[in-house]
Amino acid sequence: GKELGRGHIRRFESHMATQAVRQLELERDLRRALQEGQFRLVYQPQVALDKAELIGFEALLRWRHPERGEIAPNDFIPFAEQTGIICRIGEWALDCAIWQIKAWHEAGLALVPISVNVSALQLAQPLFAQTVIARLDALPAYLRSQIALELTESTLMHEQALDSVHQLTEAEIPIFMDDFGTGYSNLSTISQLALSKLKFDRSLIKNIGNDAAHQRVCRALLDLADALALDVIAEGVETQEEAQWLAQQGVLYAQGYWFSRPLESQIAAQHLKPKTK
Ligand code: C2E
Ligand code: CA
Ligand code: CA
Ligand code: CA
Repeated sequence: GKELGRGHIRRFESHMATQAVRQLELERDLRRALQEGQFRLVYQPQVALDKAELIGFEALLRWRHPERGEIAPNDFIPFAEQTGIICRIGEWALDCAIWQIKAWHEAGLALVPISVNVSALQLAQPLFAQTVIARLDALPAYLRSQIALELTESTLMHEQALDSVHQLTEAEIPIFMDDFGTGYSNLSTISQLALSKLKFDRSLIKNIGNDAAHQRVCRALLDLADALALDVIAEGVETQEEAQWLAQQGVLYAQGYWFSRPLESQIAAQHLKPKTK
């Protein structure tokens, strides 16, 4: 019994050690990824539901690890948040999106806004809003209005985060509430923020075309969005039935595989029209 027990503990300890080593490796790899340019952004079209016309792109982070290949954001962002390195990755993402807008402008393309995801930890930094505002203020006017920020409701639990959002909206930076309808919703908080759009989470949209109970829940949340005078972007629209039902309900905007997967920047550019003079 005891022998077995001790063996157990040893295995457990070595498991913990392996975990710790893995985490250290991942942290080192994330730093290196920033230094060595292993991150890139891909761009998923956001469309107007009536004409399927492009109205914006969401910038989504991609990491090509030199040995492990492509690693999905959900496999490293939670860890990057734990270690705090997400703040530098987030700064990189914002800079990259700004650089991309400039490049498209210089290529003579008519711009649509790019929305950039912001993590809870970034928003909780006292200087975050000021830094972003200064960064955008330094840009030519045509560029300033082309960046929006996406944040989730769960990032708003702290006073500092709310303060950041107030500063950003006062500076007229569009804020999209991401993953709306998941987890808790603090409606009084949401109603007090000058948000630009609500992004309805994919879990609200999935199979919406043929499930009456599901439709009623979604309809109630759409009424809520109406009451808050907020436009909705439906996320994760995968089928024509979903798109049709949403359009019938008066939803203006959507994003999802039915319209397009996230696109590499060169492909995304092909969806932009030439600037009309
Ligand atoms: P999110 O912000 O909710 O982004 C939407 C996710 O849904 C993306 O996954 C997108 O590829 C995926 N998606 C889009 N349309 C569909 C669809 O029709 N069906 C399905 N099943 N999925 C769809 P992705 O790119 O893997 O990103 C996952 C999450 O990682 C994002 O969720 C976001 O929370 C986070 N993330 C991505 N880029 C960044 C970033 O630059 N900064 C931060 N802080 N987080 C990021
Ligand atoms: Ca998002
Ligand atoms: Ca989302
Ligand atoms: Ca999400």
